[in-house]
Amino acid sequence: MARVLPAELTGRLKSDFPPDFVTVEPSELTEYGRDRTKVFEPDPCAIVFPRTTAEVSRLMALCSQHRIAVVPSGGRTGYAAGAVARAGELVLSLERMRRIDSVDPLAVSVGVEAGAVTEAVHQACAPFGLTWPVDFASKGQSHVGGNIATNAGGVKVIRYGLTRQWVLGLQVVTASGEVLELNGALEKNNTGFDLRQLFIGTEGTLGVITEATLKLARLPGKLDVALFALPDLAGVLRLFREARRGPFTIMAFEFFDDASLTRVERHRKLPLPFAARSPYNVLLEVERADPAELEAWLASLFDQGLVTDGTLAQSVGQAAALWSLRESISESLNATGLPHKNDVALPIAALESFCADLTSLIQSRFSGWEICLFGHIGDGNLHVNVMKPDDLEPAAFRTRASELDHAMFELVKAAHGSVSAEHGIGLLKKPYLGYTRTPAELELLRGIKRTLDPGNILNPGKIVDP
Ligand SMILES: Cc1cc2nc3c(=O)[nH]c(=O)nc-3n(C[C@H](O)[C@H](O)[C@H](O)COP(=O)(O)OP(=O)(O)OC[C@H]3O[C@@H](n4cnc5c(N)ncnc54)[C@H](O)[C@@H]3O)c2cc1C
Repeated sequence: MARVLPAELTGRLKSDFPPDFVTVEPSELTEYGRDRTKVFEPDPCAIVFPRTTAEVSRLMALCSQHRIAVVPSGGRTGYAAGAVARAGELVLSLERMRRIDSVDPLAVSVGVEAGAVTEAVHQACAPFGLTWPVDFASKGQSHVGGNIATNAGGVKVIRYGLTRQWVLGLQVVTASGEVLELNGALEKNNTGFDLRQLFIGTEGTLGVITEATLKLARLPGKLDVALFALPDLAGVLRLFREARRGPFTIMAFEFFDDASLTRVERHRKLPLPFAARSPYNVLLEVERADPAELEAWLASLFDQGLVTDGTLAQSVGQAAALWSLRESISESLNATGLPHKNDVALPIAALESFCADLTSLIQSRFSGWEICLFGHIGDGNLHVNVMKPDDLEPAAFRTRASELDHAMFELVKAAHGSVSAEHGIGLLKKPYLGYTRTPAELELLRGIKRTLDPGNILNPGKIVDP
């Protein structure tokens, strides 16, 4: 692979594309060469900004001919180093392809270009009483293309499922520059292999997503938001069981431990809703039930001694304040220390024993390390963050944290879980893929990669090598 653009290609980029198509300005190379992970240094050879699918197609054909590696780039909010260009790749930013078509209220769908910002899609759909139910704290920066390429999850998965359930059709440009139209806007299309699904969640390693037809959901009715304090993880799971049986539809069931809350308190200085601290907190959002039934359900939690404290938001502002405790965790961990992040999935029945085993592991081999746990526990999704101890240098911390990862992923494997619940594999989780995928599966993945990207120019080094 070339680390700098061959002169002939540089000439073609200038002659065949608009004047502002490419930049090699150092600050832009750094900015567009990385995502939210800080582990790898960005080192792209150039950044290109196509405005149309035809430009993406011509570019890929050129890169294929010259064997130039390409990193598709969305909002760069990823946590797996999927959008990192660290080996002289060409970064293909979709940010100028952000058209959002008119919402189709009959088909309940909307066509968008891949660079449309997630929140902008929500805003375009809201006047129709509709939404694209892919929702999380980075929605103001992430792109629909990035969401689809990572099969993003988020806080509403318990209600709506993952991104792949909300994509009707895709337009994808292959490594050779061919434009594929996959499934159009069809709800039903039972004609064998579903290639659209193949491209979802493959982190730009098989093709560049340029357009999508998104399936929409009705905006939920009024929401109730409550925060509970609980003494232990068993209580969190008991509360989840009660919520499943509650007189409402669960929209989100999020938990965070006191260590996470303490970091939020320190960084954001947000007022805490409870007088006393508890080991665990649960944020429950539900589509509004009959108020009397909801009151009775809440009272039963206290009668059973399930929760030690609780508060029900009485206004939209109070609901937002409760949500901001949860949504500020990531940012607060970054602002108050150096976190090493993990995002694992477990069968929900295994969560309690996994957390107990993880705590023993840390106490026995990583004594004094602070662990912050939070996540979408209703989906069995745990965000495990360990914070750098003050007496360890960052490089030594990373080495030790990688030892912890291997030991933790043994626990994940034993519990039949996944090393990545929703952030993907990218560069960061690649060494650990074998804890979740069997050798036979990995060989199949490599075969698919070889078929669709024979020159290995699409996001090489991410997920698996061919
Ligand atoms: C505060 C915060 C909260 C978050 N919460 C969640 C959460 O709850 N759930 C969750 O799933 N994620 C979460 N994330 C991670 C991230 O926002 C998602 O993974 C998001 O879907 C990434 O979108 P992006 O546009 O930023 O993609 P990028 O980071 O730019 O790229 C991600 C991957 O997709 C590829 N890609 C991007 N665009 C395309 C394209 N058009 N065609 C082909 N490949 C492409 C890239 O090469 C890369 O491999 C969070 C991130 C932050 C910062």
